[in-house]
Amino acid sequence: MKDRFNRKIDYLRVSITDRCNLRCIYCMPAEGVRPIEHRDILRYEEMVRIVRIAAGYGITNVRLTGGEPLVRKGLPTLIKAVREIDGIKSISLTTNGVLLKGYAHILSSSGLDRINISLDSLRPDRYREITRGGSIAEVWQGIEEAEKAGLNPIKINVVPIKGFNDDEIIPFAQLTIEKPYHVRFIEFMPIGPKDIWERGKCIPCARIKSIVQGIGRLEPVKGKKAGPAVYYRLEGARGLIGFISPISNHFCSECNRIRLTADGKLRPCLFSDEEIDLKTAMQNGASDEDIGRILEGAVFSKPKGHGLDKRRFEVVRPMSRIGG
Ligand code: SAM
Ligand code: SF4
Repeated sequence: MKDRFNRKIDYLRVSITDRCNLRCIYCMPAEGVRPIEHRDILRYEEMVRIVRIAAGYGITNVRLTGGEPLVRKGLPTLIKAVREIDGIKSISLTTNGVLLKGYAHILSSSGLDRINISLDSLRPDRYREITRGGSIAEVWQGIEEAEKAGLNPIKINVVPIKGFNDDEIIPFAQLTIEKPYHVRFIEFMPIGPKDIWERGKCIPCARIKSIVQGIGRLEPVKGKKAGPAVYYRLEGARGLIGFISPISNHFCSECNRIRLTADGKLRPCLFSDEEIDLKTAMQNGASDEDIGRILEGAVFSKPKGHGLDKRRFEVVRPMSRIGG
């Protein structure tokens, strides 16, 4: 599928649940957000049907996310079913990693290709604070299991926030020296609880990069351009360092994705609250062709860019409900 701006859309992010076992301070309020009613959440069969139809329209990569995808039962069954769809080349998962230890092998044997783990601090006390109660020991156990299960490369997503965890940019970068992980720094985005985000707390990737350059030369990794990250390697390091800059250098012109929320809404752009209700169409008996047309419509309505440099973003749907 091509959109109005000639972008090829081949990537679908599927949020399989809005529930989460953590309450990260930049993503959710302490009390959580009102959960979507169970009856409004797409069943796995409905998700598989949408992915199958989307594959017929050129979707080749699927990412499963949430909320926390590992809190929804039966995830391996969903992965197996998506794996069997003709045309799907890659299945990946974004998780906080807390439940990964018991899951990594079965996820891998079910057909999962890759995993992204969100980790915003290497310090147990700070991790507990940022996630409001999470145990970093469990995340490390999960990462080790994922490595053993062959889920390579392990990508670790870090959101540096000024005055909170920016003193850990160097330790995170150093992690790539010994470990073959891809540590990706992501700019703090104006989405989530309203009282948390401030422009001054978002550290532009150029600044993060210059901090990392304080410990060594960064060699660009040529030919590695899948998605929005720009990759480098510290001299002699086993792993890579990626920079994802949705705010300072937004990559909208290269955007290749649409999102499906757990309650069956297609979201053409992360930063736009425009949504297309696929679930209701399905409940009303939409045929595969009808669903295909709705998918094409969602792709057609993708905006040219998020325009965050010119406007203030007021989030309606929380990140845990969109599927980050
Ligand atoms: N629970 C899973 C996890 O944390 O990996 C998947 C869902 S979570 C919403 C997906 C990603 O969104 C996480 O990597 C998280 O750091 C990121 N995220 C949430 N709010 C964000 C914000 N305001 N700015 C940047 N990233 C954010
Ligand atoms: Fe949960 Fe992920 Fe949001 Fe943290 S970032 S509260 S783990 S959905």
